[in-house]
Amino acid sequence: MDTSKFVLIIAIIIWLILYAIRDSINLKTYGGIFGILRTKLGLKTIEKLGKYKIWQKIGIISIPICVALGFIMLLNMILMSIKLLSGTLPKEAAKPVVFLFGDVIPWIPGIIALLIAITVHELAHGIFAKSFGIKVKSSGILLLLGLPLGAFVELGDEFKTAKKKIRGAIASAGPLANLVIFLISIPLLSFSYTLPTELKIVDVKEPASKFLQKGDVIYEINNKKIKSLEDFKEFAKTIKPNKEYEVKILRDEKILTYKIVSSKEGKLGIMVSPKGSVALFINTIYWTYWFNFLLALFNLLPAMPLDGFHVWNALPELFKERKHRFIVRMGEILEMFINERTLNSLTFLVWWIVLGSILYSMW
Ligand SMILES: [Zn+2]
Repeated sequence: MDTSKFVLIIAIIIWLILYAIRDSINLKTYGGIFGILRTKLGLKTIEKLGKYKIWQKIGIISIPICVALGFIMLLNMILMSIKLLSGTLPKEAAKPVVFLFGDVIPWIPGIIALLIAITVHELAHGIFAKSFGIKVKSSGILLLLGLPLGAFVELGDEFKTAKKKIRGAIASAGPLANLVIFLISIPLLSFSYTLPTELKIVDVKEPASKFLQKGDVIYEINNKKIKSLEDFKEFAKTIKPNKEYEVKILRDEKILTYKIVSSKEGKLGIMVSPKGSVALFINTIYWTYWFNFLLALFNLLPAMPLDGFHVWNALPELFKERKHRFIVRMGEILEMFINERTLNSLTFLVWWIVLGSILYSMW
């Protein structure tokens, strides 16, 4: 049985158990498959960390940074959709990440990574809101058949009437937290590549396919032991065209040696994957890196109900509050382009592009 089916069955079993005890754990269910589980854990963390006023400053400083990133993302998205329509970009490029689960993204590391990204994002909103004295009504996770689909914090009504600047700072907290996790995962990822592990061949193409097969374990290349993914990556960088390489592999507990000549493009055609807990670790870090990056940038697009809407909307006010007359004037000019009316039009544009490219990718 493949992992996706296994994960799905486990999830359904967990869901049935949760469903049976739903009243005692305060689980609200919708349509029999969706659930909202409110937890105290998130609220306690928000109470504790939200005491500090430093979050207010960080939130405000991050508004212009977040708008700049959101702007790059918006331009990029428009460019991508033009390339998609003109055929210079393959249709597959527009496939949403969800459809890649179980195929490109391994289930367990994928779900752990997604949970980390969403939880950190929502907690950050809660902590920043608390710091500004805005009540956090509840926090929890959204479930689909026992699988965590997302997390949420429910803010008090004061949020809606708060100053644009405060709303912007609270909204930028989520993407900002994701960017921090993204930056932390870069060195972690390089570290994970150096962990010692067996490297199993998962796919093999010309010219190596004449000798090697799936399931072989790479042992040594040109008398150098291959003990980690880093070792293999380092070797891969040095491959030259039409050159002979001595590859030792482990098959059925025997060491076999092959002399393989690289292709004229300088390729051997060997694809490897680490095994066991190291594979789980590398994959979890790898997808944590990607999900945090994507979640941060996507949320900064200037569209309701994304965070970007409030972040962009706050920018002119930030300038207008300054003492310097020139900066105030710049804020006024900026407000002609960035205001609730233009942001509402951008909302339409953004969602039409998203919807359009998804439909186009499946056609
Ligand atoms: Zn958010």
